[in-house]
Amino acid sequence: MSVIGIDLGNESCYVAVAKAGGIETIANDYSLRATPSCIAFSEKNRILGVAAKNQQVTNMKNTVYGLKRLIGRKYRDPHVQRELQMMPFNVIEAPQGKIGIKVHYLNEEHVFSPEQCLAMLLTKLKDVSSTALQTPINDCVISVPSYFTNSERKALLDSAAIAGLNVLRLFNETTATALSYGIYKQDLPGPEDKPRNVVFVDCGHSSLQVFACAFNKDRLRMIATASDPHLGGRDFDLALADHFCKDFQTKYKMDAKSNPRAFLRLLAEVEKVKKQMSANSTTLPLNIECFMNDKDVHSSIKRAEMEELCAPLFQRAEITLKQCLALSELKLDEIHSVEIVGGSSRIPAIKQLIEKVFKKVPSTTLNQDEAVSRGCALQCAMLSPAVRVREFSVKDVQNYAVSVSWDASNDGEAAGEIEAFPVNHSVPYSKMLTFYRQEPFSIRALYTGNVPYPDKHIGTWIVKDIRPNAEGKPQKVKVKVRINLHGIMTVSSASLFEAKESSEAENGEENQQQQQNNQQQQQQQPPPNQNSTEHQNDVDATMADGVTNAAPEDADKEKKKKQVLKSIELPIESLTAGFSQVEINQYTEQEFKMIAADRQEKERADARNAFEEYVYELRGKLSSDDELAPFILENERSVLLKHLDDMENWLYEEGEECNRQVYQDKLAELKTKGEPIQTRKVEFELRPHVIEDFARSL
Ligand code: ATP
Ligand code: MG
Repeated sequence: MSVIGIDLGNESCYVAVAKAGGIETIANDYSLRATPSCIAFSEKNRILGVAAKNQQVTNMKNTVYGLKRLIGRKYRDPHVQRELQMMPFNVIEAPQGKIGIKVHYLNEEHVFSPEQCLAMLLTKLKDVSSTALQTPINDCVISVPSYFTNSERKALLDSAAIAGLNVLRLFNETTATALSYGIYKQDLPGPEDKPRNVVFVDCGHSSLQVFACAFNKDRLRMIATASDPHLGGRDFDLALADHFCKDFQTKYKMDAKSNPRAFLRLLAEVEKVKKQMSANSTTLPLNIECFMNDKDVHSSIKRAEMEELCAPLFQRAEITLKQCLALSELKLDEIHSVEIVGGSSRIPAIKQLIEKVFKKVPSTTLNQDEAVSRGCALQCAMLSPAVRVREFSVKDVQNYAVSVSWDASNDGEAAGEIEAFPVNHSVPYSKMLTFYRQEPFSIRALYTGNVPYPDKHIGTWIVKDIRPNAEGKPQKVKVKVRINLHGIMTVSSASLFEAKESSEAENGEENQQQQQNNQQQQQQQPPPNQNSTEHQNDVDATMADGVTNAAPEDADKEKKKKQVLKSIELPIESLTAGFSQVEINQYTEQEFKMIAADRQEKERADARNAFEEYVYELRGKLSSDDELAPFILENERSVLLKHLDDMENWLYEEGEECNRQVYQDKLAELKTKGEPIQTRKVEFELRPHVIEDFARSL
């Protein structure tokens, strides 16, 4: 079983595998380590990854990208609207305000959700990995930006489920980077020593993340994260493209923005110049042939000009750097180093800003492009029994504060709200909330503070099957709220504690049994007349990975002896974002069908290619005196050559779109003609050797 880590970038994806000997990056079908986060649709099949990117300009309307920033969001979300301005494909508002991507596929119009499209990309990455590793892929860890919300995280899990991937953890890109730094560092302070504080800057294609992390030999702890979810390489490209559009307007009276295909080409060229500019401060040319109306365009730019054009973007980068420093509460001399990762961190102005804010020249200890995928592979190995890795504790933090609120009860317990997980709270983590209820009630969770999301609501959970006790009074209900390993807020369980009055003598075995069952639960009776909110605010115990001081339980020791608490699991209905299991099953089936159709098309194309290749090969050999020409009678040769010409013509006319079997049959038929000639040649060539061998044996 292979253990893989996927860096799902907005521009490109990397897959790393954890093996006994270390972490390796997997190359794709084009022998490249980066797979573009791009999928496309054609009349015959889907085109995924590198091939999709390669045909983008000629199949613009059916080439889909930027999915990372669409999943888990609604069509009218202003962030989505902003993304759509950069997308030349057709996106519509689907039922329930969802996003629909409309494409022409298999000669029909299809509308896919961004989650389905992302599943297609994941299918490709899964396929690339299983081909490279020669083993089926199932378990994986996938990266997410630390600023991803519940809904985006759940959407990504849905995509992975559709692609048949079992996600052991959605791992923050920040923490993945920190892990790939920490686990190999030999010189980190000992477990009891003051930690080494390192700041990381990841400026990618669509966003900037700056984070501070504390390292000891055996562990890392995320201290603070600041991000600008809308500042990345593509924004520099857009600023530059805008500049050149103005230039072309003046010079050539061309409006490049009015022509989406020309604009796409301009963006591609601008990106190349931008990259060159990172290593070169001289004037660089930008030339595009047949740009619009068959006219060539020429221009040039200098790094200094680019820095001026992008000044507002660099200002935002500086704000985010400073924000991280402030949030971390670290003094500059407490920061050991600043590490850079992500493609856009290569921009000299970004490096200068880092130096300005942190008073340190940025270091490049990590592989800038592959650190995230490597961290994910390491985390996958840690979570999977398949590969052994060194013990290394990873403490991540919650990016946004989460508040939990609940309804009032019918018998007077007031409605309330608490901040269950403040910002930078350690995750994964569970907290217990205690209620006294006699009827079902609901709990809501929402983000508070600065969340890049118009709707801050996370979800509603209805705790069901609650009933009054024998005296018609409310009963104790404990609800576990949890931010899980994926960074997803859930109400993971709820239990009702039915208190039964009983004497010690009666308790006997049953009581002992119950006490064992409820080791963590102290018995508690709702004191009469007590203000119920005190109970509601009783965030009392932490069950899982985190540690919190249990709030004092004021259980009456006297009563404790006389009661038996029976814990009953309560059903919870979750009303949260994302697909239902039924939908996931339906989309999985659809994905299977598309995989099968792609495979069929590939086999068909392979069979056609094999036939075409044989036609050319045989014709070449029949025409050469050094090959097959001497081994066939001249009149037979011209008949066969004529037949090959006919076959070639057929291939480009009615034989263009046949199914696989037709090509295979034609190939077999042609081989019955070609192979006997080939055999005659081989036999002829072997003959002298046969005689020699015979002579030697005498
Ligand atoms: P994200 O992290 O935002 O989801 P990603 O992980 O796909 O996206 P990266 O691969 O880290 O993004 O970075 C890609 C970006 O980096 C592109 O915009 C690319 O133009 C830019 N980039 C790559 N190399 C350079 C360079 N030498 N100079 C400037 N920019 C560069
Ligand atoms: Mg990235």
